[in-house]
Amino acid sequence: MSTIHLENLVKRFGPFTALKTMDLTIADGEFVALLGPSGCGKSTTMNMIAGIERPSEGRILFGGRDMAGVPMGRRGVGFVFQNYAIFTHMTVRQNLAYGLRATRRPADEVARRVGTMAELLQLTDLMDRPAAGLSVNILQRVAIGRSAVMEPAIFLLDEPLSNVDAAFRAVMRTELKQLQRTFRQTMVYVTHDQLEAMTMADRIAVMDHGVLQQVGTPLEIYNNPANLFVARFIGAPGMNLLRGRPVETAGAMSIDLGELGLTPTLTPEQSAAVRAAKGEVIYGFRPEQVSRGLGMAMPVNFVERIGARTILHLGQGKDVAKVVLENDAGFETGKDLHFLPLPSAVRLFDAASGIALRGH
Ligand code: ATP
Repeated sequence: MSTIHLENLVKRFGPFTALKTMDLTIADGEFVALLGPSGCGKSTTMNMIAGIERPSEGRILFGGRDMAGVPMGRRGVGFVFQNYAIFTHMTVRQNLAYGLRATRRPADEVARRVGTMAELLQLTDLMDRPAAGLSVNILQRVAIGRSAVMEPAIFLLDEPLSNVDAAFRAVMRTELKQLQRTFRQTMVYVTHDQLEAMTMADRIAVMDHGVLQQVGTPLEIYNNPANLFVARFIGAPGMNLLRGRPVETAGAMSIDLGELGLTPTLTPEQSAAVRAAKGEVIYGFRPEQVSRGLGMAMPVNFVERIGARTILHLGQGKDVAKVVLENDAGFETGKDLHFLPLPSAVRLFDAASGIALRGH
C-alpha cells in the first residue's frame, strides 16, 4: 500500500516558516497535484515526502510506516525535477536502462521494460541517439521515463513541464496521465500551472503562504472554492468578486454593490447563508458563467480576443469584473453590457474572513 499520510507537517528555515501545519492523506494510486503560486511551500512539502528535507514537526507515513530517518534511496520513490537530470554522454536507451541495470535486473527484463517505457513516451525511434544534442523537450521525456521505468510505488514530480514548450506541455499532460493509469502509482505533482493540475490530478491541494487552502477534485475546487484566495487563483480569468451589503426586500435577498446597484435576487440557499453571515459579503461569479440579459450592467472597458472566445473587462477602479463570451458580438466599448450571473453558480464569501458562505 502506498498511501501517503502527512500529519501536522511543519517546516521552518531558521525563523521563517515555509510550511504551517499541513495535513493531507493521499490514497494508494491517487494523483494529487500540489498547486499554488511561487514560494507557497509546494517544493518544500515535496522534498520532505522525498526525504531530501527533514520536517521541523509532524510525521510522514507511507502505507502506515513512519518515514522519519528513512533516507531518500530507501523510500521507494521516483523523483523528477524541473531540470532534467540525465547522462548526456549516454544514449536514450542507456539512460532509460540505467536504474534497472544498477539494481541488477536480468537483461531480458531490462530490455522489455525499457521498450515498453520508450513506446509509452514515444522515444522508440530515438533509442540509439546520444542524449547530448536532443531537445529540452525530449530530454525531459527521457528523465520522466528513466524514473518511471523503475515502477516506483510513489512517483514525485516537481514542475516537470515548466521548461518545455507550450505545445509539448499539452502532449506531455496526456502522456503523464496515461503513464499513471498504466502503472497506478501514487503520484504527487507540484505545479503552479492550474491547467496541469486541473487536467491531470484526481485531487488538487491548493496552497498559499505555507498554508493548505483547500483539497478537492478539480471540479469541486472550481465550483466551490473554500475561500477568496482559491476563487481568484482557480479559473482563467479567476472568479469575479464584488463587495457589498446584503439587503432583503419582501423576502427577496440581494446584495447592494453600491455604485453598481443591486445584484439579481439570490437563491433561497444563498439567502440563508448570507443571513447567517451578518456583515459585508463578497458576491462571486465566474466570468464564463453569465448569460446576456437583464440583471447587472457594467461598462465595457477593454476587449481581449483569444480566438474562440472574447474576454470583456468591465468597469473601473474597485468595481471591476470580467465576462467571457463565446462570440464576438453585441457589445460596444464604453457602453454598458447587460448580463446575468448564472444564479445557481453565484458564490458568496464573508468579506471579513474571506471564507465561503455555504447555503446548507
Ligand atoms: P517555487 O515554485 O518558487 O519553488 P514553492 O511553492 O515550491 O515555490 P518552496 O520552494 O517550497 O516554494 O519555498 C517556500 C518558501 O520557503 C519560500 O519563501 C522559499 O524562499 C523558502 N525556502 C525554501 N527553501 C529554503 C531554504 N533552504 N532556506 C530558507 N528558505 C527556504
